Amino acid sequence: PLLHPADNASVREADTSNVFHSWSAQGTLAPFVIASGKGARIWDYEGNTYLDFSSMLVNVNIGHQHPKVIEAIKAQADVLTTVAPAHANNMRALAAQKILSHAPAGFEKVFFTNGGADANENAIRMARLHTGRDKVISFYRSYHGNTGAAIVSTGDWRRIPNEYSRGHKHVFGPYLYRSEYWATTPEQESERALHFLERTIQAEGPASIAAFLIESVPGTAGILTPPPGYLKGVRALADKYGIVLILDEVMAGFGRTGEWFAFNAFDVVPDLITFAKGVNSGYIPAGGVIINNEIAHAFDERVFPGGLTYSGHPLAMASIVATIEAMEEEKVVENSKHIGATVLGPGLNALKDKHSVIGDVRGSGVFWAVEFVTNRDTKEPVDAAWMGKLKAALLAHKLLPFMADNRLHVVPPCVVTEDEAREGLAIIDAVLTELS
Ligand code: PLP
Repeated sequence: PLLHPADNASVREADTSNVFHSWSAQGTLAPFVIASGKGARIWDYEGNTYLDFSSMLVNVNIGHQHPKVIEAIKAQADVLTTVAPAHANNMRALAAQKILSHAPAGFEKVFFTNGGADANENAIRMARLHTGRDKVISFYRSYHGNTGAAIVSTGDWRRIPNEYSRGHKHVFGPYLYRSEYWATTPEQESERALHFLERTIQAEGPASIAAFLIESVPGTAGILTPPPGYLKGVRALADKYGIVLILDEVMAGFGRTGEWFAFNAFDVVPDLITFAKGVNSGYIPAGGVIINNEIAHAFDERVFPGGLTYSGHPLAMASIVATIEAMEEEKVVENSKHIGATVLGPGLNALKDKHSVIGDVRGSGVFWAVEFVTNRDTKEPVDAAWMGKLKAALLAHKLLPFMADNRLHVVPPCVVTEDEAREGLAIIDAVLTELS
């Protein structure tokens, strides 16, 4: 059953007949078919191999089918495959210790969830209980997950059909290329976005605001690296008004930006850190909240009213321990930083010099956005038809891309080699030449 039926068309047919897909009208789907993979490559059932420049949903940081992680899952499966969350198990404690070893000082507890949405859900719950306030401020340009409070914290179009609850406010975060603040320098963008954020707090009433929920580097919304001083400014506003700062590291964390946590590059420490994806590269669904000591101790006497059957699932925990160990041993985070600084950053900027359809290139590590425009002066985005052609051409050249709106997100696994990164850049170059 793993390899049969061994042709793409029958797998696609079986899938679209019986599987209901995320975020889609179901009638016209023709999903890309994947049978297996290794490192930064994947292949279908007919032997076609692709360079994975998507890391699936930007989660396979350690690459596909890492032997150490697979071995750890198999070994744990032989010992214990499930355990209720109230019981203690060695692997859960080890996973917490491994995660905490990369967190800032002052964090000694981890609450485990099944993924990123429920990590944010529970971080919001902690912030609301801790402050006794209810509102959450997040960015219009954000994605925080597909559950109750996480989807209404999300700013993009997916919030709107799900917006049944109040208590969430959105602001425009910094995005110099398309500044909402008429800014022309990163400093102006930072200062003005912070001014607007503070005015929003005052207008909403500081005593009503429990939390800021912010992606350290907004990912799906466009890999919007914050300008100098912005996150520190948010930290200062959180302190001034007694607001809990939750940094969402679900996509940006565990090596993606070239740091263990993306916020490390911005000299800021949040109160709660949410994670998922890269913590175990999604080999088994897992996520969680890293809780600072003040908030963790607020629940020493008081009951925390939240939990999940699979919180700290042994297979997920074993995969977290093995993933973090392999990332340390193989210097995966350092590789991500190196590839960004020496291959992807310079390479994508060279493509910008060559192809006028590229309006902006931004990012770090293996977390880059290339924004396409019809005119560099007006910054008019290319249309969906052009993006469709780009996608088809990249696939024809055997590169699996990650696209959002008018952007290509260049997000290979953190283990991508220099040669593979160059190969991907050459494909993008050839395709842009073809399309022009
Ligand atoms: N937060 C961020 C920043 C994300 O990118 C995502 C998923 O893409 C989520 C939260 C939700 O995570 P999950 O899909 O595991 O629930």
